[in-house]
Amino acid sequence: MKKHFAFISMPAAGHINPTLPLVTELLRRGHRVSYATGPNMIAAVESTGADVVELPTDVPELPPQSQSVPPPVARLMQFFIDDIENSFPPLREHFRADPPDAVCADIMSPIGRMLADDLGIPLIALVPSFAANEKFSLLDIVAKDNPAFSPEAFAEFGQRIQQIGAQFGVRAQLPFGAPPAALNLVFLPREFQLAADTFDERFHFIGPLLGDRHDQPWQPRDAGAPLLFISLGTAFNNRPEFYRMCFEAFADSPWQVAMSTGQHVDPAGLGEIPANFDVRASFPQPAVLRHATAFLSHTGMNSTMESLHAGVPLVAVPQMPEQAANAARAEELGLGRRLDPDTVTAAELRTAVDDIATDEQVRANLQRMRQIIHDCGGATAGADALEAHLN
Ligand code: UDP
Repeated sequence: MKKHFAFISMPAAGHINPTLPLVTELLRRGHRVSYATGPNMIAAVESTGADVVELPTDVPELPPQSQSVPPPVARLMQFFIDDIENSFPPLREHFRADPPDAVCADIMSPIGRMLADDLGIPLIALVPSFAANEKFSLLDIVAKDNPAFSPEAFAEFGQRIQQIGAQFGVRAQLPFGAPPAALNLVFLPREFQLAADTFDERFHFIGPLLGDRHDQPWQPRDAGAPLLFISLGTAFNNRPEFYRMCFEAFADSPWQVAMSTGQHVDPAGLGEIPANFDVRASFPQPAVLRHATAFLSHTGMNSTMESLHAGVPLVAVPQMPEQAANAARAEELGLGRRLDPDTVTAAELRTAVDDIATDEQVRANLQRMRQIIHDCGGATAGADALEAHLN
């Protein structure tokens, strides 16, 4: 039976990108998808052919980060509160008039759970990072090193969100610590998940979903030189001093470097760009990684997965606690190396990249993980799980 799915996500590349191939697969099977998100990801969602529901959701503008500076938890929490108040009313109005059969909501979008509750329909969680259950939450690990992420810090916000939900007549919860949905689609392989043994059949580890993103046209400038790709992702990337350090580390090297600096940093403001560097606000990352020999990355989960999907070793300079956990996991599995972003030097960057690129054990581990990822099932497995859950 054909179904109508309501997808809901915050308008950030790392949250929207992995869902798009799933949407494409559902549409291909004849289902209907209405996708609700904020203005800056509308074009990406539209490209799938889904019906778009535009919400007044933006992503919070974050100050430059470093792991030694407490993350702006209060600011993030206020973002959730504002977003619920602004986005839930138009979301509910839209879907009451055009009811879906199920809500597929990003784990960081509390309005998804609220909508499912309001309409009395199933909630499916979309998880683009480490999954959490009754026994494991990344937050518990992160809170050990970061008092700003302590349970107490979240308690007050959690209560406020519950109150706002009550005003709307539904259950509302902070994304952290909410009970798992009956079906959770996790965009990583079980082998990468922490505490994987504690995850039962509610969790489907379908691996990273890249769709045709790695087929986008892109060619390295110099076919003869090994390619290093550098990116700090799309959110915690306002780090001009880091990009200058990369110039210093790799200017006089055999590497050709493609460096993504994001929307906040003007490449022209970084000083003289070394001849072996191609610096842009954005690259078609999965296509670039097909050619890359190493990836110097903030290890956001999508970037981590895209690197492993392409079999490219990671050198990690994580910019916030969740990325640090991804980096630690990649290092633990012998897929990359983690550097301390607060103390790292140009010389360390260069040594780490040179070493990882020639490490035979890392190469073997990457090959194994690449096969695991290709066997995860991706969008087909995700759509199968959704259909089975609803029938
Ligand atoms: N991305 C891209 N081009 C770039 C930089 C990033 O296409 O130049 C994409 C990348 O492929 C990934 C997403 O943006 O899908 C970043 O997600 P991630 O979880 O790695 O980090 P975040 O941006 O959320 O910190």
